[in-house]
Amino acid sequence: MQKKKVLIVDDSVTMRQQIDLTLTKEGFELIEACDGEDGIKKLKEVENIKLVFLDVNMPKMDGLEMLEEIQRKGIFTDVPFIMLTTEIDKRKIQRAKTAGAKGWIIKPFEPYQIIDVANKFTQD
Ligand SMILES: [Mg+2]
Repeated sequence: MQKKKVLIVDDSVTMRQQIDLTLTKEGFELIEACDGEDGIKKLKEVENIKLVFLDVNMPKMDGLEMLEEIQRKGIFTDVPFIMLTTEIDKRKIQRAKTAGAKGWIIKPFEPYQIIDVANKFTQD
């Protein structure tokens, strides 16, 4: 069976490694990107990405800008995006929802939260 591909977009190497390790152990294939621009590039390059974990605060293009760019272009409409952030800012949450985000995970989180979300959003 082919592994399900999950993209993690975060400027923190530690955060990417943490999610990568957690989900690799669960049988997922992880792809990493370091900012919004890189995230869009990876979505275009790598076929069949099932789910994206997306950090809000990043240099160059942040998570909200990436989401809005994707929405504006009408691309990757079937891919669920889960936001990752340290802050609970209602305006940002609303902005993300408007741009199509499917969920919101507050850092720091427990591994099971990531696993639960990954399983839930990659079911066929
Ligand atoms: Mg960040």
